[in-house]
Amino acid sequence: MGAAQQRSSMPGGRGSVSARRGAVAAVGGALAVDAALWALFPGQFADLETAFWVMAVLALAVDARPYVVANRRASSVILPSICFTFGIVLAWGFVPALAVQLAAMAVAGVRMRQSARRALHLAVQHASALASAALVAGLAGLRIGREPDWSEALLMIAASVAWICGRYGLDAVSSRVLTGGRKPKRPERWGLEWFATASLLLLGPIVLAAAQVGLALVPLVLLALHAVHRMVRSAGEYERAARVDALTGLPNRRALQASVAERGAGRGSHRPERRMALLLLDLDRFRTVNDALGHAHGDRLLIQVAQRLAAVVPPHDLVVRLGGDEFAVLATRVDGPAAARRIATHLADALGAPFAVDGLPIDVSASIGIALQSERGSDGAALLRQAEAAMYDAKQRGAQFAVYARDADHHTPDLTLLADLRRSLQQEPAEGLMLYYQPQIAIATGEVVGVEALLRWQHPDRGMVGPEELLRVVEQTPVMRLLTSRVLAEVISQLAAWRADGRTVRASVNVSVRDLHAADIAEEIQTLLLRYAVPADQLQLEITESALMADPHRVLDTITRLDRMGVAISLDDFGTGYSSLQHLRRLPLAEVKIDRSFVLGMAADRGDAAIVRSVIALADSLGLRVVAEGVEDERTWKLLAADGCHAAQGWFHARPMPAAELAGWLARYRPLRPGREPGALAAT
Ligand code: C2E
Ligand code: CA
Ligand code: CA
Repeated sequence: MGAAQQRSSMPGGRGSVSARRGAVAAVGGALAVDAALWALFPGQFADLETAFWVMAVLALAVDARPYVVANRRASSVILPSICFTFGIVLAWGFVPALAVQLAAMAVAGVRMRQSARRALHLAVQHASALASAALVAGLAGLRIGREPDWSEALLMIAASVAWICGRYGLDAVSSRVLTGGRKPKRPERWGLEWFATASLLLLGPIVLAAAQVGLALVPLVLLALHAVHRMVRSAGEYERAARVDALTGLPNRRALQASVAERGAGRGSHRPERRMALLLLDLDRFRTVNDALGHAHGDRLLIQVAQRLAAVVPPHDLVVRLGGDEFAVLATRVDGPAAARRIATHLADALGAPFAVDGLPIDVSASIGIALQSERGSDGAALLRQAEAAMYDAKQRGAQFAVYARDADHHTPDLTLLADLRRSLQQEPAEGLMLYYQPQIAIATGEVVGVEALLRWQHPDRGMVGPEELLRVVEQTPVMRLLTSRVLAEVISQLAAWRADGRTVRASVNVSVRDLHAADIAEEIQTLLLRYAVPADQLQLEITESALMADPHRVLDTITRLDRMGVAISLDDFGTGYSSLQHLRRLPLAEVKIDRSFVLGMAADRGDAAIVRSVIALADSLGLRVVAEGVEDERTWKLLAADGCHAAQGWFHARPMPAAELAGWLARYRPLRPGREPGALAAT
């Protein structure tokens, strides 16, 4: 098992004082009750055969290794001794069986370091189980003789059913009363528990028969008992493995979700200081480590990160690895955002000192997104989603952490709009979603060199919803990927249709940072290009500067792959972010788009004009194509031509329009060239 196994998830790992008290209570209680039974029913213990004593000794011996099906509930303990005590109850009756059971249970109680309360609970359950079995056996007049017949075998099964009802029926009734009639959680675990219990019980009469026929046969039966033990253990291991991250040994996403559900996130805590906060940590630049040093080193680094996090997080909180370089901490005692921020700082500090991987010092930092449980409660999935949104927000702003704010306007996802969009995306074709295309014109020749695909949504009630409003709603959610997939498929199939008509324009698609963080977008594009037989150089992706800056290394990986495939990358909204020249040089970019805020102002504002001029010069020197967007008038267009800008996009030439209209527009279009009158050259 991994290095950073959580202490709190180990059975019996905590509360050693109460465990010691529990052991004393179990042994003391068992001795006292056994002595009382002996005193009250001396007849029951007279003339017991050797077979009884063999069974009794075996019961005590096997309970040194009780089975724990789930380590959170006392009711999920299976005592292997029930095999022998069930045999005893059938052959010698309730009192001796109970005496042996209690003694065996004391052995198990000491081994499991149970609390006194749990030990008592278990004792009551088993007494009730044995009593039920004894009752059925007694009512039916079952007494095991040397050669049991079919009806006796059936009665044994009935007695074992009674045993199970006696144990779990009592439990179900009491837990219903305690929880006010709520359904007990995770019923699927019962399957294993009942199967193991039934196997043990039904083995009982067989051991008994063996003991009565000849004691030499008993060791043979023990092998079967061992098999049951192995079965339960491996099923338990499987269950545990499904909740543990194999690399780091931390609990995984499933465990986190179970833990949130268990701690009652759905209801929200009545005590504000006991609210939960989920802190999602995404390592910055982890890809670089992986690429530069190899996956083995990357793995070792992840293990060390896991260890550090596990070391600083108190036992009542949970550290999980969500996958890749994403970790999360579920803090369970947070009274508000300030406390959550303190935890985030604490976690960031823990990662502050460099890590040593094979003697190589590596600096690691993480962007942390924080989501707080609301008063109304939120489920694990919602908390994760919110923490993720906050994490992207932190990355985007270059901040160490961000708290998810329901009321900050970029985070007020209009949930009905989101739901409508998701519903629409589930349809084929997506209802109301459309792409408009806006031409891009080469300034020198007036030729149409490309189009930019721009999203429009005709909402059934709200009318046309613009992309900015739409994106504000979806960008922070996983729906963004679905939306981008639709846009990509639509644009690439449109390119194929244009090709069939003999038009080879290039189309640009806008993608968000979330799309580029998904590892598979390059593959998805490759598949689509192949399916529609569209050459890669007809597709271009536009990435905004801020998206790129959010986590350049992570994005770099994806855009490098796209570049190798032949898909060009355009840096959108250039000038609004803070990308350094250094970056521009290192990135596989084909094009820079000057943000329309500068272009719109350049005719009137000398500052804007200067910025545009310098961006063009810079891009030129780096060998990049420059596109000016937001070209609304002739004056701007001419200024751009004078500055040597390559292409223009804007209302001066055309507004974005549906594909069907574009065909007509292209047919009517006469290229304009600066210095000439419109219509001087023929189209295409
Ligand atoms: P953007 O990528 O900067 O797109 C250019 C925007 O400028 C478009 O707004 C376009 O209609 C507008 N525009 C074009 N010419 C002119 C002009 O001469 N003057 C003025 N004032 N504006 C002009 P739109 O279509 O509303 O799109 C807004 C933003 O939404 C886009 O900005 C882009 O960031 C985003 N977006 C649009 N479609 C998609 C998409 O499919 N996926 C993603 N991820 N984002 C998209
Ligand atoms: Ca764009
Ligand atoms: Ca733009």
